[in-house]
Order: sequence, then C-alpha cells, then structure tokens
Amino acid sequence: MSDCIFCKIANGEIPTNTVYEDDRFRVILDAAPANEGHCLVLPKKHGANIFELDGETVSDAFAVAKKIAEAVKKSMNAEGVNILQNNGEAAGQTVGHFHIHVIPRKSGDNVTIKADAIELSDEEKQNICKKISDEIS
Ligand code: AMP
Ligand code: ZN
Repeated sequence: MSDCIFCKIANGEIPTNTVYEDDRFRVILDAAPANEGHCLVLPKKHGANIFELDGETVSDAFAVAKKIAEAVKKSMNAEGVNILQNNGEAAGQTVGHFHIHVIPRKSGDNVTIKADAIELSDEEKQNICKKISDEIS
C-alpha cells in the first residue's frame, strides 16, 4: 500500500522510535501516547484490519504484543497493561493498517478505556449467543 503511513513506518521508509523489530513486525512508540510507554505493534505486511489480515499474522502480532506488554510493564514500572485493537471507524480505528496498542497502566492514571454496560434480557442473550455460535460452526 503505497499511501499507507503505517506501511511506510513499519518498513522503515519513515524513521520513528522503534522499540522492537524483526523480519515481520516493527513496534513503535505511539505519536500521541495515552501513557508513558504506549506502543503500537505494526505488521510489515499491509492489512487494513483484523478482517483483512491473514490469521497467522494476526496471531503472531498478538504474540509480539505479549512480549512488549512484559517489557513495558517492567521498564515503565507499570502495574497493569491494556491491549487494545480497533477495527473499523465505528470501533475507533483511525489508521487503516492493522495495529495493536500496548498501553502501560498505573492506578490513578488518566487513561480511560471504559464502556457502560447495556441491558439485555435472558432471551436476547440466548438469541445473540445462537447467532454468534451459528456463524462460527
Ligand atoms: P487507532 O485509533 O486504533 O487507529 O490508533 C491509531 C494510533 O496511531 C493513535 O494512537 C495515533 O496516536 C497513532 N499514530 C498516528 N499516526 C502516527 C505516527 N505517524 N506515528 C506513530 N503513531 C501514530
Ligand atoms: Zn499499510
């Protein structure tokens, strides 16, 4: 993807703060971090989101995210870490190249990642459960 900013960053065309790199992934510091040590795991291969990228690259990207989570937790003296991965504008995705956020957390920090619960009846829950499981099998 010639006009994709994360393709250019992942493949080294645009220099940035790289905390980890191998032949398939680059992990960078987020330019507008939610907290100190907020990292983004970028596959070097382009796929707009989780639906467009092959399963092996997605699962290997999460394995990299685990390694980064352990490193930022120790190096930033974090108490916890959020792993966040947005797919589609409706889900808050702003850059159309699959990426995983790794956000170190401390109690009392200013990061807000929160959703209010919706109300569902038992029947609605059963219908939802069936719709999803039918789609998997
Ligand atoms: P998302 O909303 O999940 O698509 O996240 C996109 C993230 O990419 C945001 O947290 C941005 O701050 C970050 N971002 C956008 N452009 C750059 C860039 N050139 N270098 C580093 N991070 C970026
Ligand atoms: Zn790309």
